[in-house]
Amino acid sequence: MNLRACFFPVLFLAACHLFAQDPWQTFYEKSGGTETPRYDETYRYARMLADSSAMISWLEYGTSPQGRSHFALVLDRDGLSDPAAIRARGKIILLVQACIHPGEPEGKDAGLLLLRDVAVRKKHLNLLEHVSLVFIPIVSVDGHERFGPYNRINQNGPKEMGWRTTPTNLNLNRDFLKADAPEMQAWLTLFSQWMPEALMDIHTTDGADYQYVITYAVENLGNMDPAQTQWLNERYIPVIEKSMADRGMPIFPYVSFRNWHDPRSGLRTWPSTPRYSVGYAAARNRIGILVETHMLKPYHQRVESTVELMVQTMEILNREYKSLISATREADRRCTSGELGNEPFPVTFKLSEKSTQVDFLGFSYTVKTSDLTGNDWFIYSDTPQTFTLDWFHENLPDKQIQVPKAYVIPVEWNDLIRRLQYHGIQMQILSVDTEMTVATWKFSGVRLAQQTYEGRTRVEELRMQEISRTMVFHTGSAIIPVYQQPAKIIIHALDPASPESFLQWGFFNAIFEQKEYAESYVMEKVAREMIAKNPSLLDEFKAFDATLPESPVKIWAQYNWWFEHTPYFDAMKDVYPVGVLR
Ligand SMILES: [Zn+2]
Repeated sequence: MNLRACFFPVLFLAACHLFAQDPWQTFYEKSGGTETPRYDETYRYARMLADSSAMISWLEYGTSPQGRSHFALVLDRDGLSDPAAIRARGKIILLVQACIHPGEPEGKDAGLLLLRDVAVRKKHLNLLEHVSLVFIPIVSVDGHERFGPYNRINQNGPKEMGWRTTPTNLNLNRDFLKADAPEMQAWLTLFSQWMPEALMDIHTTDGADYQYVITYAVENLGNMDPAQTQWLNERYIPVIEKSMADRGMPIFPYVSFRNWHDPRSGLRTWPSTPRYSVGYAAARNRIGILVETHMLKPYHQRVESTVELMVQTMEILNREYKSLISATREADRRCTSGELGNEPFPVTFKLSEKSTQVDFLGFSYTVKTSDLTGNDWFIYSDTPQTFTLDWFHENLPDKQIQVPKAYVIPVEWNDLIRRLQYHGIQMQILSVDTEMTVATWKFSGVRLAQQTYEGRTRVEELRMQEISRTMVFHTGSAIIPVYQQPAKIIIHALDPASPESFLQWGFFNAIFEQKEYAESYVMEKVAREMIAKNPSLLDEFKAFDATLPESPVKIWAQYNWWFEHTPYFDAMKDVYPVGVLR
């Protein structure tokens, strides 16, 4: 056989294969369900969808620090690409996003498959009757390109994936309220423009082993408006659980074991706060659905179940779009009308001791004492087992605050004014210096965290005493009325009692620092003059001195005590710079 005769059929077969190949096959499909595309390939495929289908519009909402476009696809039956035009037709908007944690990419592959199936293959067209879909395949576009096989130790595929955080090591799913990352600032601007009735944020969980390929979480434990909580409890949760189970893909709420790693301790769930996607959506009066596929299930199973969950969710939204619109309007009305202020507003919750028993589809396990670490080692088998477990999910209001009419942020803190603007918050910017009497707080007992969290030194403990101040707010300061659509964001950001507040995130830590000190030899003299005028000071000092432990730095506390009792001590130390109008 000569060489040419051998070579020809090989070339021919390759060419035939090329012609037979479906251009709409996704990268994930070509890999046999084992790989996920990089940013460039995702962009190319998404662009091809937008260019080829009248139902899909291309949407860019900013550029990342490394210069990548933040892009989304809008899927609308009538080809609409503008939220006002979509709502004018009576439709609602679902925002689905993937790769806020790029190591967890199934939402990206699932979304591309679904959009292709609808727009190119004309499947599921009924899903677009009353719903338009905005799909962001990759939220954390730069973090996505820190790509490799070793980014997720607990996870069963894809072969390679992106990294959990942005290149500045920020976790975007902790950044929704404080908006440190440029990626988040772009996202918040998009969200505030579109105000989707529902947000679906797709992840892969870490945690225990169980049978469910997908778990989900919605905020129905306290941070969501009552009308929307009722909508979720009655119209979404029972229906989605049943329809997924009917398709052989049972789902369960995203839970933790009450004691980490120990299934015997029972299950717990907790309210989602505005630093997280679902808690943020709740605080904006929009329902959020967190999807957590199970890390140990094969990648293709996770993608397929995610597609199904998207389809079934869109089915529900199509049936229930009117009831969701009215629940959303009711929640917005409570914020804008001021009804929100009629009752104390909870900023923290605590889990009650009440539990209900649930059947949980797990795997049987044995527990053995590890000879390596001495810990309990839970060894899961492949044998399915249904456990009846106590589920603790009743969360009661803990810290509650009185909602004020407005907050006033001095212009010198304008970094925070700018951050609030990403949330679509309306404000009045002062055009002249203005003297105002405001309420605010003086803090004491402040304890800062030993370690940074998301790059910030958080306040872990503080006591607050309300005070009144008359002060000048300079030109550029912002008066922020609370009763507007993002009311709950305003309260969480600006009331220091909230763990979500800028204060507790450490933005105001400089106010806790003492900047002037008294020299010891000056204070010795001044203290004697003070005692001469007010002899009881001496007893007070002695009582204080008796509480001080022996230490080389005791001298600082002693002189500082006297300094604090002079008019020279900084009256602004530990005073919250933001004013409150009640
Ligand atoms: Zn995640």
